Amino acid sequence: MNLKILSDETLTEKLRDLSKRDLALTAEIVSHIHEFMVRRLYLDHGCTSIFGYLTDHLGYPRATAQNRIDAARLLDAVPEIKEELANGKISLGQITLISMGVRQAEKENPGMKVSVDQKRHLVEKIANRGNAETGSGCLYGEHAESGEKTAKSGNGGSVRSEHASAQIIAQELDIKIIPVERVRVHQDGSVTIEVHLSKEEFENLKRVRDLNTHKNHNAKLGETVAEAAKFFLEKKDPRKLKTKIDLQQAKTDSISETGSDSNLEVGSGPNQNFSSSSNSKDDLPKTSTVALRPSAQLPKRIQRNYISVHVVRALHQRDKSCRWRDSTGHFCGSTYQLQIDHIRGLADGGADAIENLELKCSIHNRRKFELEQRQ
Ligand SMILES: [Zn+2]
Repeated sequence: MNLKILSDETLTEKLRDLSKRDLALTAEIVSHIHEFMVRRLYLDHGCTSIFGYLTDHLGYPRATAQNRIDAARLLDAVPEIKEELANGKISLGQITLISMGVRQAEKENPGMKVSVDQKRHLVEKIANRGNAETGSGCLYGEHAESGEKTAKSGNGGSVRSEHASAQIIAQELDIKIIPVERVRVHQDGSVTIEVHLSKEEFENLKRVRDLNTHKNHNAKLGETVAEAAKFFLEKKDPRKLKTKIDLQQAKTDSISETGSDSNLEVGSGPNQNFSSSSNSKDDLPKTSTVALRPSAQLPKRIQRNYISVHVVRALHQRDKSCRWRDSTGHFCGSTYQLQIDHIRGLADGGADAIENLELKCSIHNRRKFELEQRQ
């Protein structure tokens, strides 16, 4: 359509109409996301979270996805927000602020839960205050061309600024401020991040910096954060842990060439070297015992749950990531919290052999279990 030929009035009318439909559509999308989350359908599409589904499969920008998820979650407690969203009385941004406020309040007061009534009250307060204060406002908080037109459009209230909403939420929930994180990306890819920490969290951060001063005198807080992140990854990142298992394996392999203690044998792995007798138990580095167990009779169940490090290594090399397939045959591919899944369950007589094993992320491992329970 050539918009140039439209009269000013028609263009204004059309834009107003489209905006209304935009809001109604957004409300509709949020309620669909809600039902999609309840059914956990994202798992069937190779995603471990609804956030991953919205960003990876539907192409939503991260912040947009988060807004809609926050709204979908709040919809559970306060179904009225669908209508408030559709008629523009509350915005997705404000709903995200409510969600952040609720999280903050629960974090500041461990054990406390913000009730459904409190959430509903917040929604009402924000939606209605906007109405009462600016009867002639228009959508998105922009100045109305005229009060009369807005009234005619039937949109009633205006959307209050998010800053004012944040103040209302902080007052109602008795929290100091709603932390807003800002990330500015610079040309070289570095970032400036503005974060909010509680007093205790800040003390923790400073303590980390102090403990690290032997490495870096006068470390800036940003450097401390970066160091802490690096340290965490070294301890927890499955990719790095896998390398550790490989290193252990390299050690055990080199030992196995000279044989090992006859009291020890490998689990049901393919490598037979360990069972070949004789010498040098003392040479075994502590870490290599991961692969070993006494040959004395253990209860059957314990033996069957034992998977040798050889098999674990081979499995990681073969699978590399979560092997869950969705309905379209798409692999999950997540490397987060990988677990070993028995394709045929132990209870059904499945073996610990690699042919019967598969890597799955914790979420899909649980998902498979749930599906099997349903059968
Ligand atoms: Zn997975």
